[in-house]
Amino acid sequence: MDRETGMTKRIVDVLVPVALDHGYSYRAPDELRLTAGDLVRVPLGSRAYAGVVWADQAQPDQRLDNRLKDITDRLDVPPLRDDMRHFIDWVADYTLAPRGMVLRMALRMGEHLGPERLRIGVRLAGPPPARMTAARTRVLALLADGLTQSKSEAAEEAGVSAGVIDGLIDEGTLEALPLPPEPAARPPDPGFCRPDLTPAQQAAADVLQQRVGAGYSVTLLDGVTGSGKTAVYFEAVAEMIRQNRQTLILMPEIALTAQFLDRFAARFGVRPAEWHSELSPRKRARTWQAAAAGEAQVVAGARSALFLPFADLGLIIVDEEHDPAYKQEDGVRYHARDMAVVRANISKIPIVLASATPSVETEVNARRGRYHRLALPERFGGQTLPMVEAIDLTAEGPPRGRFIAPRLAEAVKLALERKQQALLFLNRRGFAPLTLCRACGYRFGCPNCSAWLVDHRFRRRLVCHHCGFAMPRPDACPQCQALDSFAACGPGIERLAEEIATLFPGSRVLVMSSDLVTSVERLRDELREIEDGLVDIVIGTQLVAKGHHFPKLNLVGIIDADLGLANGDPRAAERTFQLLHQVAGRAGRAEGRGEALIQTTQPDHPVIRALVAGDRDAFYSAEIAAREKDHYPPFGRLASLVISARDRALAESHARKLAAAAPRDDRVRVLGPAEAPIALVRGRHRFRILVRSPRALDLSAYLRRWLAAAPAPTRDLKREIDIDPMSFL
Ligand SMILES: [Zn+2]
Ligand SMILES: [Zn+2]
Repeated sequence: MDRETGMTKRIVDVLVPVALDHGYSYRAPDELRLTAGDLVRVPLGSRAYAGVVWADQAQPDQRLDNRLKDITDRLDVPPLRDDMRHFIDWVADYTLAPRGMVLRMALRMGEHLGPERLRIGVRLAGPPPARMTAARTRVLALLADGLTQSKSEAAEEAGVSAGVIDGLIDEGTLEALPLPPEPAARPPDPGFCRPDLTPAQQAAADVLQQRVGAGYSVTLLDGVTGSGKTAVYFEAVAEMIRQNRQTLILMPEIALTAQFLDRFAARFGVRPAEWHSELSPRKRARTWQAAAAGEAQVVAGARSALFLPFADLGLIIVDEEHDPAYKQEDGVRYHARDMAVVRANISKIPIVLASATPSVETEVNARRGRYHRLALPERFGGQTLPMVEAIDLTAEGPPRGRFIAPRLAEAVKLALERKQQALLFLNRRGFAPLTLCRACGYRFGCPNCSAWLVDHRFRRRLVCHHCGFAMPRPDACPQCQALDSFAACGPGIERLAEEIATLFPGSRVLVMSSDLVTSVERLRDELREIEDGLVDIVIGTQLVAKGHHFPKLNLVGIIDADLGLANGDPRAAERTFQLLHQVAGRAGRAEGRGEALIQTTQPDHPVIRALVAGDRDAFYSAEIAAREKDHYPPFGRLASLVISARDRALAESHARKLAAAAPRDDRVRVLGPAEAPIALVRGRHRFRILVRSPRALDLSAYLRRWLAAAPAPTRDLKREIDIDPMSFL
């Protein structure tokens, strides 16, 4: 009841996509007939936002009704479904991110939301204009056939500005007419091209098809590289399409997976709708609406696709479920695989996790029967796994200043003679990770971070990989002014390319690294060049490890398997095993038995031994036992708090006060604060607190209690909370 006017108006709570944890109350004009989930436009501060009418039981607003603002209008898009709002609440509760920031991920079409922008077409309608110009002639030639063409495309194709076309419309030579909106995705056809499955694959496909539509279940689709996991889960997708429900396929890096989109098209006649950060805002808005309207039946996307408001999601597939790229490390810190399982549970639908090297968490769940395991043992077409050998760098290493051991060089030579491709893998961008002065020992460090500057010769810069700081390499040492005194320490892939050019002059070499890739299109072209055999030797970072099929590749050389094994990260062994297994698996997928050579100083490390023996289960058993003993995930829970400030003392004292405020609970261990391994990033000093608890404890609730009682960060202080952290730097 509005006391001043005596009129009743409904009050609803609207969640707005900003850093707020609760909704605000607004007056809802009767004519809008709002229900929970509706998207509305509301004023907040001096701005207008698209928000969502949240549940009615949201926190009551203490302000007087007559000070409430009115909802401006309702947006003409389908409402956010109950399960989607539930999911957003769940993610916010679990990650401790403000609810509004999670909502923001679901409303990612930003200012492009709203009625479809009208597309204008033009066609020939009258006599030529009195005054002809070269530009006008080009336009008229283009439209000479009398057909309608989109105005913007016509301008682009004729190489003229929109003004030239407007002029021709004004003179009556052309006429403008509205075009129907472009469809975001044509419907895939489940019967387009039925695959030839092996009996094992068919059996797995049958099981998946039975689970589709039968409520919540988690299936680990477990198979080595090339065993046909994709072909198998495509059959579950086909069943979904037949049932006219939607499928979400999550991929670690959708921008890199042109081959996947082509395979999908070969099976279903069209590509799926794509969702990733490189889409144009307009395309993203269309895909968002197509998902919300149920028009896009299959969406393949990067982790953020998990927050699309599907009209009728029936199946989720997480491909390469172990991939670290599923963890979002800024903003809302969430693990897309874990949250996908949550979403499937809330929506009561099946989820399929596919991997040749499952995460330890998933492997444990499969071993304990919480997840179903569907194993695909053979390589498709009876191919065998590559032969893996270790090269002990302490016994048969390369000559000084070089990084390719004689045995690996010999293997590359042999591959080239056989007209096969070789891949040299080194997970290090640039030329050298450290540059020092031979005269005085000066090392180039980043002024903003505790990190060395990486020498990037192709770009002629020394670059910080943490903050992006870059400077040209000076001629003289900044400390002792010696000339030409710099030495490059350690290898990066650019340096490897130099060594290869010396060892194998005349071979066609392609260097692939994220900093050299200027666009997704360029990357897709390069991958095609490898596929087509236009390259002899590929030198790459983990960019080349993911999901590509190179039929002519028969030799893989891993330059430094010790990278990543040596740090204090509890997931280092798992991650190294997964990465090296994946890279080694690139060899020999099409012809003959491939070979992988692993250069290491620790040939007896369990990771290397498991790779050489091809004994995946032995690695998992050892790793699971170690995690269980140390109460690491999945046997315990972890959270990390990073406190940072420009002023080191301020960061440290706040971190100490925060740690001291931790609620007493014998089951919880609070470790730290300690200076972070990378103590300085972008000019901010960082301190870490690590929190460990048993699995049964609700660590998010514990943290919420803790933070509510702790001193609030003031001034320049920043507090980042990460539940289930993947990075310990
Ligand atoms: Zn010097
Ligand atoms: Zn830096």
